[in-house]
Formats: sequence, C-alpha cells, structure tokens
Amino acid sequence: MINNAFYRNTILAKKIQAIRGMNDILPEQSAIWQYLEGTVANLLKRYCYQEIRTPIVEQTALFKRSIGEVTDIVEKEMYTFEDRNGDSLTLRPEGTASCVRACEEHGLLYNQIQRLWYTGPMFRHERPQKGRYRQFHQIGVETFGMTGPDIDAELIILSARLWKELGIYDAVTLELNSLGSSQARAEYKEALVAFLAERKDQLDEDSQRRLDSNPMRILDSKDPNTQALLDGAPVFDDYIDQESKEHFEQLCAMLDAAGISYTLNPRLVRGLDYYCKTVFEWTTTELGAQGTVCAGGRYDGLVEQLGGRTTPAVGFAMGVERLILMLETLNVIPESVTNKPQIFIAAVGEGVASHGLLLGEVLREQTDLRVQMHCGGGSFKNQIKKADKSGADIALIMGENEAANSEVAVKFLREAREQETVSQSDIVAYLEKVLN
Ligand code: ATP
Ligand code: MG
Repeated sequence: MINNAFYRNTILAKKIQAIRGMNDILPEQSAIWQYLEGTVANLLKRYCYQEIRTPIVEQTALFKRSIGEVTDIVEKEMYTFEDRNGDSLTLRPEGTASCVRACEEHGLLYNQIQRLWYTGPMFRHERPQKGRYRQFHQIGVETFGMTGPDIDAELIILSARLWKELGIYDAVTLELNSLGSSQARAEYKEALVAFLAERKDQLDEDSQRRLDSNPMRILDSKDPNTQALLDGAPVFDDYIDQESKEHFEQLCAMLDAAGISYTLNPRLVRGLDYYCKTVFEWTTTELGAQGTVCAGGRYDGLVEQLGGRTTPAVGFAMGVERLILMLETLNVIPESVTNKPQIFIAAVGEGVASHGLLLGEVLREQTDLRVQMHCGGGSFKNQIKKADKSGADIALIMGENEAANSEVAVKFLREAREQETVSQSDIVAYLEKVLN
C-alpha cells in the first residue's frame, strides 16, 4: 500500500511554498494586526494626519536618488526587476521616497503644510531572522513645510502617546541625535575619515569598506573594536552648525516640557542618506538584536534632491512586525482583541436553518456582538461540540419547538448555569444583560 502523505507530496506534486522571509499573516494573528493598525489610525486622526496610499512598485531611479547609492538598501537589499517593456522597477524598500514623489507629482508641497501617514508592505532582501523579514510592514508618518523644532517634537510626542496607548511605553527608550547641516556634516566627515584612515587596519571589514563610501555609518558599527576605536575619534558636537544646534536644543527643551525622557546618542546616524538635523529611534531590549521599533528624522534636502523646491520635512517609520512581537512579548494585547465569536447559533432540526439565519441578522442589526452561525446541520451534540470549540460564550439553539414558538434556547458554554428558553423578541435585551 502506498503511504498517503508520500503519494501526495512526492508523486503528485511538490507543494509550492511562500518565498523565504515573506510571511503569511494567519487568521489568528490578523486580529492583532487590525488592533495595532486601528489604534494607530485612530491616534493619527486625532493629530489631524491624513493617509496617503502609493503604489508598491516605483521606478528604480526614485530609490537610488533618494535613499542614496552607497546605502545598504540600494547596494544590496532592493528587489529590482525589469518590466516587460524594459523599464527598471523596484518593490519599495521604504515609504518616504514614494510619499515625496506622489506629493510632488500632485502639487501637494509647494507653499503648503502636509501631515501624512501611510502603511503597507516594504521589501528588502535581507537575511531573515526574528524581527527581520524580506517583506515587512511599516506605518510611516511624514510632514512637509515646517522648519521649526516644534514639528519634530510633535512627531516624537505623538509616537510616545502611541506607545502609551499600546501599553509599551515603559519598554521603549528614545535615542536622539542631530546630524547638523549637510555642510557641517561634510566637514565632520572629513575629520572622521582622516582619523579613521590612519587606523584602517583596526576597523572591522564592513567599516573599512564604508570608509570610502559612507563613513558616517561607521559610527553605528556593531563591532566592539570599532566602537572602542571611535572613543578617540573627533566628535560631531565640535562641528555642528549654530542653527542646527539651536534647533536641537529647542527640541530637547520641548521634550523636557512634555515629560518625555530621551538618551542623547551622538553615534546615531541612521542608514539612509537623506537625513539632516534631528534623527531619533525608539528602541527596546525586548526583541534581541532587532531592537529598533521606530526610526526617523528630518530630511530637509530630499524634496529638492528629487526635483522639487526646497521643502522642510520630518518623518518616521515604525516596524509593524516588531511592534506586534513586542505586544506579544509584553503580554499587553487586550482580551477584546480576538476574532472568536461571542455567540454561536446552532440550528437543530428540520427547516430551522432559516430561523437561525434570521436570528443572527436580528443580533447583527441591533448589537455589535460577533455572531457565528453554524451552517451544515448535524446533531445537537455535534453542533454543541463545535460551539464549544469556536470559543463562543453562549450557544443559541434554534430547534423545531423554538422556531414554532418564536423562542430560542440559551446554553452557557463557559459557566455552570442552567439552559434557559427566551422569547426571540427579548433576546437582545437578555444577551445584553447576561454578557455584562
Ligand atoms: P535596522 O537597523 O533594524 O536594519 P533600518 O534602519 O534599516 O533598521 P528603517 O529603514 O529606518 O530601518 O525602517 C524603519 C523601521 O522599520 C525599523 O526601525 C524597523 O522597525 C522596521 N524594519 C526595517 N527593516 C526591517 C525588516 N527587514 N524586517 C522587519 N522590520 C524592519
Ligand atoms: Mg536595515
């Protein structure tokens, strides 16, 4: 006799699986996703941020020009392919570039203030591990047209409120830095390179490579020897321009006034090219190596770099998978976050199915309860077993007698309580009473 599983898997066809690093979000998880997305959307609405939706695919040049040719993303992480007509296209690795492109294209930036947000999948060809995937999701917030530190502060205060509403504020730390103006940064870069070039052989391999291409990134190298070496390196504080310095001091004062604590991290530089002045990250020690849950900063030069007029801008993006991992690790997901039914309708007998369906409609019309109808008939015992398995608190049983008398039987699935028979016209009031 042929083993069934062997036959199915080997002789018939090999099953096609998802692409490595790209996850399915299964029904059990989707309630948590909806909770997180709903909480964020609700919060952003209260701050008057508007959602923008852009395509997942863009011209490759958009990302090369904005993110920067010598960044990890552009050098080795992008999903780039040729369209049928030969155009080079890329699955978006982040949302800021697309957002700026769309705003420019539709004239949303010139002489205007915008507070925008987006959410959706991003794609980066990285080594998959906990908290790091090839298709992952971000919720991003971008603002345009505001130069002062107050909008930087608003973004940070808003994110802090989100952590509080999600119940994770105590588990995250705000790290803050200023990258100054591009001129100050260029001068500092020169000094840093001069210092490190003399000690090149002591740098880790990645940092040696970055010495030519992206020396600022060496500052956030994870290599302990490189970090030790940097203790003697020139510090940016000696190079920062006056305007950026004041901007930063004002931002810090606003955060102090709002009661938001932060850690100054002069080695926080962010992976992307386009940042200036303020950069920040919210990090956690709850997730192991992938500890950054939200990151952002000011990017006053990007709009111009993409062909628009000079437009001040600040934004951030949070990693949805990492936030969900945190909610789970810290066990802070409210009990109400579930797809489980509260009410299970069993229809037992001849011709009672439509009575069951109608009862369900009454409940959905008059309440917000999650009501699952059992479809497909079967014995009383069988249906009650399914009711129990569904997770519902109460089974409403529609039998032939109940249908004939406009009644319904109420069976409590989670407590030792006598079954009751209730008139259908009273059932909503009855359920509201017993479910509270
Ligand atoms: P990291 O240093 O962890 O690689 P990053 O600097 O590349 O992060 P950003 O480009 O700033 O990250 O993206 C913002 C946020 O998106 C990150 O803080 C993180 O929470 C999330 N994120 C980035 N890359 C991934 C990924 N491959 N998988 C899951 N989440 C990610
Ligand atoms: Mg990265």
